[in-house]
Amino acid sequence: MADQQLDVVIIGAGPAGLTAAWQLTKQGLTSTVFEADSVVGGIARTAERDGWRFDIGGHRFFTKVQAVEDVWHEILQDDEFLLRPRMSRIYYKGKFFDYPLKPMNALKNLGVVEATLCVASYGWARVRPPKDQSNFEGWTTSRFGKRLYRIFFKTYTEKLWGVPATSIQADWAAQRIKNLSLMKAITNAVLPKRNQKEITSLIEEFQYPKYGPGMMWERARELVEAKGTKVAMEEPVTAVHHEGGKAVAVSTPAGRHPASHVISSMPITTLLKIMDPPPPAEVLAAADALGYRDFLTIALVVPEACGFPDNWIYVHSPDVRLGRIQNFGSWSPYLVKQGRTCLGLEYFVFEGDDLWTSADADLVELGKKELHTLGLLEDTTKVEAGYVVRMPKAYPMYDASYKANVGILRTWLAENTPNVFPVGRNGMHKYNNQDHSMYTAMLSVENILGADPPHDIWTVNVEEKYHEEKDKPPVEATT
Ligand SMILES: Cc1cc2nc3c(=O)[nH]c(=O)nc-3n(C[C@H](O)[C@H](O)[C@H](O)COP(=O)(O)OP(=O)(O)OC[C@H]3O[C@@H](n4cnc5c(N)ncnc54)[C@H](O)[C@@H]3O)c2cc1C
Repeated sequence: MADQQLDVVIIGAGPAGLTAAWQLTKQGLTSTVFEADSVVGGIARTAERDGWRFDIGGHRFFTKVQAVEDVWHEILQDDEFLLRPRMSRIYYKGKFFDYPLKPMNALKNLGVVEATLCVASYGWARVRPPKDQSNFEGWTTSRFGKRLYRIFFKTYTEKLWGVPATSIQADWAAQRIKNLSLMKAITNAVLPKRNQKEITSLIEEFQYPKYGPGMMWERARELVEAKGTKVAMEEPVTAVHHEGGKAVAVSTPAGRHPASHVISSMPITTLLKIMDPPPPAEVLAAADALGYRDFLTIALVVPEACGFPDNWIYVHSPDVRLGRIQNFGSWSPYLVKQGRTCLGLEYFVFEGDDLWTSADADLVELGKKELHTLGLLEDTTKVEAGYVVRMPKAYPMYDASYKANVGILRTWLAENTPNVFPVGRNGMHKYNNQDHSMYTAMLSVENILGADPPHDIWTVNVEEKYHEEKDKPPVEATT
């Protein structure tokens, strides 16, 4: 392959973009990566403030795609990964529920009366399933019953998306909850663990780079640069020029750069909007109609004793706005400093809303107050320092029209710029974790190199064949 003359331009130095660059170097090919930001890793970066390192949401490394697992271990040495015990709970009405849900623990916390009502409501949902299962509420109620749905899914999901659960498409539940049902959860808890060894271990442990996910992507950058690939930081792609039925160049503030192929992990919305010449109005309207949920972390440094053993806690209580709390000391001792830990309070927001535009100092005060309200921090004067990180477009929104709109964009790209490969999470407007984001990039590189037949990357994270290589635990409802 090394003799091929390709000018591959990669947009974005997140997991998808850097994986594409890495895969090309393995074929002896260099490329040019343009990254708008000053740090690599995209949403999977590790933010650093005054020596404290923390994720944009905790990033577990788990996959059943062996090729992705292999790439992780090509980029980092085995001893740079920690195998971390996983613990997470749901905080609801002053009680902690194990998560993933354990029937006996849930029963104990709910109490006999509520538990009986939940079982009856589950039975009712089996006999009379909701008619409309196309949305999150109907889909989840049909599998858990209305009461359990209200306790364990509704509040968090509505905090996460900022809209009623009836407006969220069932696709999201299907991607996150997959085959989990109450009956399966109970069967797994009660029956002997037939063939469950690997499943259990994947649920209970995960890999994590010592210094957080950003370490993976910082190293990937070094490795591809050492092979001659250019990673241009703070250089956003502002136009993709196309003529004669294909993309021919991209522009950045530094100038115009020829391209034989473009691998794009920038949001597909923006990609369509920077096409030159522009697509027709109806295509731009479809791009404009795609929505996102944005994300904000308030990281508070506290004495280690104020932490908790969990990696994270889901906060289902409606009386606070925060949705989840990470304890970064539980993710890796290398992220925190001696005797102290860092708690990451996560808020799901819309860019420009009241939280997004609040001053950092006010947000730190809000974080302290909410931890106190929850009873998780008695004395707020124990908070030594606080930092705020905002991440736009953290979640591609699965609303009622997203599929049709993505379809319009895909069709336009396929017909007008078939050498532009949208990859990753926002690149494809798909709820992909790092592994699937990376895998779409890996398959796109194979397509560029002439895979025959070419891979249909839109089936990644949809069709079973792409994710049944290994046994995997039921995917969780809440990430
Ligand atoms: C709260 C949260 C928790 C998560 N937890 C996990 C987890 O536990 N495990 C896991 O595997 N995954 C997790 N993920 C998902 C993971 O973050 C994503 O799958 C991954 O970051 C997507 O990689 P990407 O390269 O497709 O996109 P991104 O990470 O979004 O990277 C895209 C890059 O493109 C750049 N860019 C955008 N526009 C331009 C432009 N015009 N020109 C140049 N560059 C541009 C951006 O700055 C960015 O660096 C989580 C996500 C969130 C939000």
